[in-house]
Amino acid sequence: MNILVTGGSGFIGSNLVELLLNKTKVEKVINVDCLTYASSKTNDREFHDNPKYFFERIDIRETRAIIDVINRFRVDNVFHLAAESHVDNSINNPFPFVQSNCVGTMSVLEASRVTGIKKFINVSTDEVYGALGEEGKFSENSPIDPSSPYSSTKASADLIVASYVKTHSFPAITTRCSNNYGPKQHVEKFIPKVINNIYYDEKIPVYGDGKNIRDWIYVGDHCRALWKIFTSGETGEVYNIGANTEKTNLQIIQQICRLMKVKSKDHIDFVTDRLGHDYRYAIDNSKLRNLGWESMYNFSQGIKKTVNWYIDKF
Ligand code: NAD
Repeated sequence: MNILVTGGSGFIGSNLVELLLNKTKVEKVINVDCLTYASSKTNDREFHDNPKYFFERIDIRETRAIIDVINRFRVDNVFHLAAESHVDNSINNPFPFVQSNCVGTMSVLEASRVTGIKKFINVSTDEVYGALGEEGKFSENSPIDPSSPYSSTKASADLIVASYVKTHSFPAITTRCSNNYGPKQHVEKFIPKVINNIYYDEKIPVYGDGKNIRDWIYVGDHCRALWKIFTSGETGEVYNIGANTEKTNLQIIQQICRLMKVKSKDHIDFVTDRLGHDYRYAIDNSKLRNLGWESMYNFSQGIKKTVNWYIDKF
């Protein structure tokens, strides 16, 4: 297989490329990324000399350039991850989100359709379902009800993909994962920011009362789930990905403070809540587990590995 990964210089993309390069069935992995501020040139440190790995600096909106890559490398399968991904930025300036997440997805999809790609994995997010109250979980049949400009552009991309499945019998699968944590995430995101601010003895800004709940998954488990869905999932379907790990933001901070041996009350700075801040996300992952996937890391193991990775990097 020759696999095109979009967004392979970002957080999840670079972890996914590493996993794919270790698969014997995979001959080439081509990372297409335009290297926005969210990417890192060092995210490919572990594999940039791997003879199976190729990098193309391209904006995914350039459909002709994507078609050229697919033809040149005889790409047969696509994992589409490239996106603007930070909710706060989408509230301040949504335009790049519509460009990369909607127009960009349309472009990669059309390039994949005209070249006859065998399977297209559209990596989406549980945020397309909006927020939950105290009870319940998101299933694949939950209504699409996004709250932020970020999640609404991801939901739009999902609908465009779904229309290709219906109209063209296009072989796409959409995945909707919960919040990821792990090595190589940009420091603007919650968990790296907590680790960074404790390390540099700065305050940790916490939105509202810090009681918002997210369902966390270690990035390596997300990537293993993507591979499982790619190899065993049904085209045209949607699969939720989550590891049944609901935690409030305050619980996360307290756990990281314990690991870094500081007192959380000395570091927390409660700030005005994010506009449209979703209260709770939780994933029903039974459809994915029916394919034979289970998470390998519990939160204590994953967060320890993550904290150690950032401390080594600082
Ligand atoms: P990220 O911001 O770390 O990485 C995104 C990558 O996409 C970057 O390398 C960036 O340079 C690239 N990119 C952005 N716009 C591009 C464009 N127009 N052309 C080419 N490259 C472009 O994001 P991430 O956290 O790794 O997320 C990857 C995907 O997974 C996204 O689609 C996101 O919506 C989805 N997702 C993320 C999470 C999470 O918790 N991080 C959870 C569920 C789903």
